[in-house]
Amino acid sequence: LWEMLLDRLKRDGKDYTLNWLNRMQPLEVREDVLVLAVPDRFYQDWVDDHYRGLLESTLALVTDSPTRLGYEVVPGLAPPPELQPAPAVKTDGSRPPRLNARFTFQNFVVADSNQLAAAAAQAVADTPGRAYNPLYIYGGTGLGKTHLLHAIGNKIWDRDPTQRVVYLSSEQFTNEYIESVREQRMPEFRRKFRDECDVLMIDDVQFLGRKEETQREFFHTFNTLHEQGKAIILTSDMVPAEVPGLEERLRSRFSMGLITDIQEPSFETRVAILQKKSVMEGLELPDEVAHFIARAFQKNVRELEGALVKVSAIHSLSRHPVTVDFASHVLKDVLPSRQVVDVESIQKEVARYYKVPVEALKEDRRHKALAHARQVAMYLSRKLTKGSFPEIAARFNKDHSTVISAVRKVEKLRETDTAVKRELDELEAKLTGE
Ligand code: ADP
Ligand code: MG
Repeated sequence: LWEMLLDRLKRDGKDYTLNWLNRMQPLEVREDVLVLAVPDRFYQDWVDDHYRGLLESTLALVTDSPTRLGYEVVPGLAPPPELQPAPAVKTDGSRPPRLNARFTFQNFVVADSNQLAAAAAQAVADTPGRAYNPLYIYGGTGLGKTHLLHAIGNKIWDRDPTQRVVYLSSEQFTNEYIESVREQRMPEFRRKFRDECDVLMIDDVQFLGRKEETQREFFHTFNTLHEQGKAIILTSDMVPAEVPGLEERLRSRFSMGLITDIQEPSFETRVAILQKKSVMEGLELPDEVAHFIARAFQKNVRELEGALVKVSAIHSLSRHPVTVDFASHVLKDVLPSRQVVDVESIQKEVARYYKVPVEALKEDRRHKALAHARQVAMYLSRKLTKGSFPEIAARFNKDHSTVISAVRKVEKLRETDTAVKRELDELEAKLTGE
């Protein structure tokens, strides 16, 4: 079972997940609990935080049992790996450090919300130092600023690998500066940023605010590069005038080229982004599901993407068809919270709706109307609560495979039978107050 899970992950190229999970070993299966050996508590907590949801949903969907994870600390098992997940792209040794080949213009969706910024970025990538210098891109978090920076750097470097592209955040710049002062390596620092640099990209310059010395150093760096016609590209979450504690002379330097913003994406843009990313992920994403996710995550492309990755990962592990119900279950923890519903109130509401006694839902009677009500109640319990299959099964005095097949059956009915779909929508609206 464990091998099978790891295998799936491997085939899907989820390498970073694997790095972690490889260090655990399956110990035994106790009732519906798969017990894993972990090297220590720290490791256990980390895995529990990051992967339990993924693993449990997968277990529940691919097997009848077990469906939960347990841990046992076995000291000296294996050292925990680096905390950082491995970078998605292996550096080939020559791509400029910190530049991520994953972020390109090809996979950036251009729309009204980012059209100007994308066009300006393209222009800078095509004629660095001549078009808009500096280019200053600002906008809210998770809207694609960093993506555009990497895209510029990658395009320049792909065309001409002799171009020395330096990309870093303003915090990294600050840290390197402080370190160079402390270790008396300023000449080296200046060489790196002034002499051995053709394209300088500083991400999130708002963090330079109130750092007087770093700002002074950066001012001179900026001037040296600018005078030589070297390209400078900056991002921030606000316009230069609003960055608190930014010196006047830097403000005016930042405003010398082009200042352009990125706005929040429209619904259509969010759908387009989801579609593009799902093609990249090799996931077939039905429109209905794309619309559902796009409606749920409105302000931040990073969250939108995170939701898609989660759906895609659990789909590829479980082979469960990608439906709205599936997505809503997978994303339950991150979806904007709705009214809390428990199994008991679902049973009550369903019983009232189909005019059957609540107790009958927990019995074995095979009367047709009863069976349907029971299956609907199980389906809604799975969809609207966080309960695992065994937990829900216990509330109906059934075993979990009964619940699994009930849920599958109702999911199918929902898609093929409009009367059933209407029933479900009504019940759901009643239960969630929406
Ligand atoms: P920011 O730096 O503005 O906080 P990022 O550039 O880190 O945001 O973007 C967050 C995530 O959203 C990244 O994975 C990026 O690839 C993705 N993203 C943002 N905008 C787009 C877009 N227009 N098309 C494709 N992906 C996008
Ligand atoms: Mg960023």
